[in-house]
Amino acid sequence: MLNLIIYGAPGSGKGTQSDLIIKKYNLNHFSTGDILRKEIVDNTELGQYANSFISKGQLVPDDVVIGMIANKIDSLDKDKNNGIIFDGFPRTVNQAVALEEMLKVRNLKTDLLIELIVEEEELINRLLLRGQISGRSDDNLETIKARLDVYENQTKPVTAYYEKLGKYKGVQGTGSIEEIFERITQVIEQTI
Ligand code: AMP
Repeated sequence: MLNLIIYGAPGSGKGTQSDLIIKKYNLNHFSTGDILRKEIVDNTELGQYANSFISKGQLVPDDVVIGMIANKIDSLDKDKNNGIIFDGFPRTVNQAVALEEMLKVRNLKTDLLIELIVEEEELINRLLLRGQISGRSDDNLETIKARLDVYENQTKPVTAYYEKLGKYKGVQGTGSIEEIFERITQVIEQTI
């Protein structure tokens, strides 16, 4: 059992690296961003509500994403669960506290938070490029700047929370996808 948080600013490569990590370690991938985007495409009530925040680069309220993650954990087949990678969650200290609590009552725990460290100029360039390729409506300069502000002010404190728990590891998030994955693998191998 390996429960990881992949953490980093928008554009730091969390989704790309998660895809490689889940394959290597046979983990379940829980991405709050992906779940919310699916709700938007399906035009559900939750999707419409979430989009009013996402389109402005703001965070969706804590209770919504915390509830979504709790449902995902409860939907797992306990006998077949090798572990979970949390991607884009937790994004506030409140969410981190809720995650640790919801895992504890289910006799589970997080093992590690891995931060992908990338400087801001590179993040903006990557997100603008992704906006052109994927058409993600929140990858435009105005919304990117808002998301980076939200990251600095609301999400950054999550790292201190996991440092206190002795579970924080940072890796350089620049270079080739393979190089970054190699750094992540080394950190995981030190833990398991
Ligand atoms: P992402 O794909 O992880 O970059 O998420 C895209 C957007 O979804 C974010 O800018 C937020 O508006 C929203 N979102 C995703 N995860 C969370 C979360 N854990 N808490 C609040 N909002 C979130």
